[in-house]
Amino acid sequence: MEKTIVAISTASGNGGIGIIRLSGKQTFDIVNKIFVPKNKSKEIKGYTIKYGNIINPNNNEIIDEVLVSYFVAPKSYTTENMCEINSHGGTVVEKRILELCLQNGAELAEPGEFTKRAFLNGRIDLSQAEGIIDLINSKTEMEAKESINQLEGSLSKKIKEIEKKMLDITVNIEVTIDYPEYDAEEVTNEEALKSLKNIHIMLKNLENSFNKGKIIKDGIKTVIIGKPNAGKSSLLNTMLKEDRAIVSDIAGTTRDTIEEYLNIDGIPLKLIDTAGIRDTDNTIEKIGVEKSKKLVKDADLVIAIFDISTNFDDDDRKIMNLIKDKKAIILLNKVDILSENKENEEEIKELNKPIIKISAKEEIGLDLLYSEIKKMFELNEISSNNEILITNERHKNQIIKADKHILEGIETIEKHLPVDIISIYINQAMEELGEITGENVSENIINEIFARFCLGK
Ligand code: GDP
Repeated sequence: MEKTIVAISTASGNGGIGIIRLSGKQTFDIVNKIFVPKNKSKEIKGYTIKYGNIINPNNNEIIDEVLVSYFVAPKSYTTENMCEINSHGGTVVEKRILELCLQNGAELAEPGEFTKRAFLNGRIDLSQAEGIIDLINSKTEMEAKESINQLEGSLSKKIKEIEKKMLDITVNIEVTIDYPEYDAEEVTNEEALKSLKNIHIMLKNLENSFNKGKIIKDGIKTVIIGKPNAGKSSLLNTMLKEDRAIVSDIAGTTRDTIEEYLNIDGIPLKLIDTAGIRDTDNTIEKIGVEKSKKLVKDADLVIAIFDISTNFDDDDRKIMNLIKDKKAIILLNKVDILSENKENEEEIKELNKPIIKISAKEEIGLDLLYSEIKKMFELNEISSNNEILITNERHKNQIIKADKHILEGIETIEKHLPVDIISIYINQAMEELGEITGENVSENIINEIFARFCLGK
């Protein structure tokens, strides 16, 4: 790790400023060769900024006027000596400064290498590093909030707490084995059993929190369905208007699938549609019953929209049939038209789903739709309490594995098998949890995780 690394840390393109970042032993030597501060003092103090010119040392050509921030080990992002050169934004300037750093002894950083060093040098653990990637990639405020919690170490703390409980059990067991006169085996077993059951509940809660965590991270997979002219496009347009930031348009892996993320009132919605969301109808005839079924089956939420101003027909009933067993919200659209149809209302009530009367065109009732979604997915609770949510599938899998060993431990006691076997299971459980924080994790996994970072982070 002697290499001193460098990368452009700001996104490419023209901007007000660009940041070129260096980390490693030779950072200050390299900067010294290419940077001429206006204030000639040679002193380097951490958390200070110097103003001056980046020059090409071969011909003294001025490349840019910059600010350089200094971080002295160990008080930096990576715990190594670091500098951040704030140049003018713009591809040419940033690239020239990068080139100068490379020519003067730095090596190009790999994606995520700064954060990887922070991890390998022990400043943050693996789950915190993963929190950083998630924060950068956040699509909604809720996701960003969860990521910052993880970055601040909330998950690590919880895992440590559980590991401590596990350790306590093994210590007790060892005392019983080494000093049988000290503690009766039954008493130890009794206590261990209680404690293991407690740990099992904690792990199960964490595992279950992934249901919500996944929604925060990936969005609620939502499909809007209704027969032609029910008002799907109008609804979508109204929703899009309220989305202050459409965060990403991602062309899905299947050729003709479009996934669009909306962030409405803090609700992360991921709209799915096989035919293109904005310009086609999700009508059953158009995309076929089988495809509609699949669409509905894959969704976390179905929004079924009906025109309340006309009588229901077979198409409407096909839709009712499709959503029978799904998490669904029924919208009765066009309430602004006076001829509301009471018979329709009666028929739809039998489905036992939340029914909301709206006017997509006049923008009436949409707030009710949003609060219903929040209620359905318990999103209100997420923003109000500080429960720890697992948002990362890797973490969830480790927790499931750890829990399996805990259950084996419980079984061992209940079957009155020798007490030292329990310690083996507990140790295995601890190893599984250790992979979350990275105390005990293979190099492959580490490389895989950091490869997901962007350059310069
Ligand atoms: P889609 O075929 O399901 O996408 O339906 P559209 O959104 O294209 O709407 C069909 C027709 O119904 C259009 O003429 C819309 O202006 C009209 N429409 C949609 N929503 C409403 C509503 O809430 N009230 C009224 N009066 N008309 C609506």
